[in-house]
Amino acid sequence: MGRDLNSKFWNEELETMPRGELEKHQLEDLKEIVKFAYENAPYYKRSFDEAGVKPEDIKTLKDIQKFPFIDKKTQRDTQGKGSFLGELCAVPEEDVVFISTSSGSTGVPTMSPFTKKDFDEFQDTESRWFWQIGMRPKDRYVHALNFSLYVGGPDVIGAQNLGALCIWGGTLPSERLLFVLKTYQPTIIWTSPSYAWQLGEKALKSGIDPKKDLNIKKIIVAGELGGSIDATRKAIEDLWGAEVYDFYGLSDIFGACAAMCEAKDGLHIAENHILVETVDIHTGEVLEPGQVGELVFTTLRKHARPLIRFRTGDIGWIDNTPCSCGRTHGRIHISGRKDDMFIVSAVNVFPSDIEAVIRDMSGITGEYLIRVFEKDFTCKYSVEIEKNSDNPKSDEEVSKEVSDALKARIGVKPYSVVVHPDGGLDTRSEHKSRRIIDERKLDYVI
Ligand SMILES: [Zn+2]
Repeated sequence: MGRDLNSKFWNEELETMPRGELEKHQLEDLKEIVKFAYENAPYYKRSFDEAGVKPEDIKTLKDIQKFPFIDKKTQRDTQGKGSFLGELCAVPEEDVVFISTSSGSTGVPTMSPFTKKDFDEFQDTESRWFWQIGMRPKDRYVHALNFSLYVGGPDVIGAQNLGALCIWGGTLPSERLLFVLKTYQPTIIWTSPSYAWQLGEKALKSGIDPKKDLNIKKIIVAGELGGSIDATRKAIEDLWGAEVYDFYGLSDIFGACAAMCEAKDGLHIAENHILVETVDIHTGEVLEPGQVGELVFTTLRKHARPLIRFRTGDIGWIDNTPCSCGRTHGRIHISGRKDDMFIVSAVNVFPSDIEAVIRDMSGITGEYLIRVFEKDFTCKYSVEIEKNSDNPKSDEEVSKEVSDALKARIGVKPYSVVVHPDGGLDTRSEHKSRRIIDERKLDYVI
């Protein structure tokens, strides 16, 4: 009660806690959760015993490094085993009030259970992110994310608990969503970056200027990398005349585990809930903050299914230096999915690097498709783009321009750049786009 609307913090004490104190709390929670997992989840009992580690071995935060990793495969292999909730689950089913599942885009969907307390703390964290980007009770908010099994769906409750007027948009067709935006004049919307872009373009084509006819001041994006690519974020901001903030979530943990603040320099992660490590993607060796590697998360307070050293498959780095906003929780910078990274002439290439180049160039629409393939026993990539209808240059000139820009930014030239007319690429799917086709993997699909 009596929350100060002018305060920039949802929970000032927590968000600005000196790191020494924050780490003290993390250690207490870590000791508790590792013990709880060992005593209640059959998988952890077995894997800790096999690795010769015990909960009492945790004396400092670094001691987590002695414990074995888990990953998506562990989740798949243990789910449904022993009980409906599987061997990673540490509470009886009657304590579970909610489950979400992953999309299954990289295999069998995995289920993430929450106790009532887990769920309430999840929503408090979401309120904190909404407050952080400036949402206040007077805002009208459209939650345009999928509600079907998706962990991002319930995040709308965090906005509602904050006091905003919430419109549960879900995956409305774009015509109806535009009707909602025009009629109810909401101030904030959350969707994917590609959909934010497409929706803005669709609005223009149907005679609605997002800057003049709509009242959107802030756009939250998540689910794809675009929000962390400066050129993409700025393109969406220009189209809408709104501020864009990137959120990062995991179906295995929270709808948003980390979120940008006004500094837009990385995403603050809820370190009171998650202990972050980065490790070498090949050797698993723990890296220092600032070094790029695979993000590994340990959940500190989720009791239904604790995750101890979960390899997220996301590549990025941790920044624990002070942020200008005053928050002390560290920031993560995401480069991409490990699965999407490919290697050309010994260079690690992320689709996000290619997107950054494409979105930064004038005379092309910003849509793109990447193909990764093998030729003469080496990995190559090609890029397909769309030329603006008013671009006077020839296709050959545009192709060369894009190719040169990619070489300059990434270090390796694409095998080819195919130029399509505006609207010629079939990448404008509703809400979620797939823009990379790995033809090397297609060989194995019957
Ligand atoms: Zn900040």
